Amino acid sequence: MRIRREIIALFVWIFVGCNQQPPNQVHEQALFQVSTIDALMQGVFDGSTTLAELSHKGDFGIGTFNALDGEMILENGQFFQVKADGKVYRPSGESLTPFASVVKFVPGDSVKVENLDFPEFKHLADSLMGSSNYFYAIRLEGEFESVHTRSVPAQQKPYPELIVVTRQQPEFNISETRGKLTGFFCPEFVKGINITGYHLHFLSDDKSSGGHLLGFKLKSGILKLDRIYNFEMKLPESVAFHNSEFKTDRSEQVKEVEN
Ligand SMILES: [Zn+2]
Repeated sequence: MRIRREIIALFVWIFVGCNQQPPNQVHEQALFQVSTIDALMQGVFDGSTTLAELSHKGDFGIGTFNALDGEMILENGQFFQVKADGKVYRPSGESLTPFASVVKFVPGDSVKVENLDFPEFKHLADSLMGSSNYFYAIRLEGEFESVHTRSVPAQQKPYPELIVVTRQQPEFNISETRGKLTGFFCPEFVKGINITGYHLHFLSDDKSSGGHLLGFKLKSGILKLDRIYNFEMKLPESVAFHNSEFKTDRSEQVKEVEN
């Protein structure tokens, strides 16, 4: 009986456990987040955390900047800022962010992929992740036939709601480029806290273009996923955050803003 039980356990491990860590393993890696998506939706655009502080929490991530001044990419420990003019800047460590998510990236196996668009990519990543109840850091690097991105212009006070800003967002169509998609998959249960599902930013390898991802066609590339078990948040001390209202379900607005 004991042998039979062990054989059954082995099969369960092969079919269910290949994509999982051994039980009781200590997971020290944590996704670190500044503020909440619903605060950003309401126009809490004043930065509350410096990039220098963020860099202690991760070398990989995405977000935005003080006053909503563009899209952030943290790639291999270096911050990049894609502003509304479509150009890529290098922000200083003293720059502030009102909303960002970072992690120390520890990817699993690399998966070779080719001829994918964004919906096909989501389908593939869904199956590789195995469970949508965890956070995942995602990197897809390779040759792209096209990448469709947007950025957002810096805002003046009194800040509008995010949905007002993104209705006039500058969009960019980048063709024949080599670069990286960086971002996260967040589970449904963080609705209101972060963007559920896929949220990715693009940066070309020559650092000439990028932004918040709206769509792409990949020729060939390498996909890396990193399942994350811990989650840490830092909330802003600002009056704007003190006075924010979180009773309203903004999930439909978030979908409009992010797609
Ligand atoms: Zn974004």
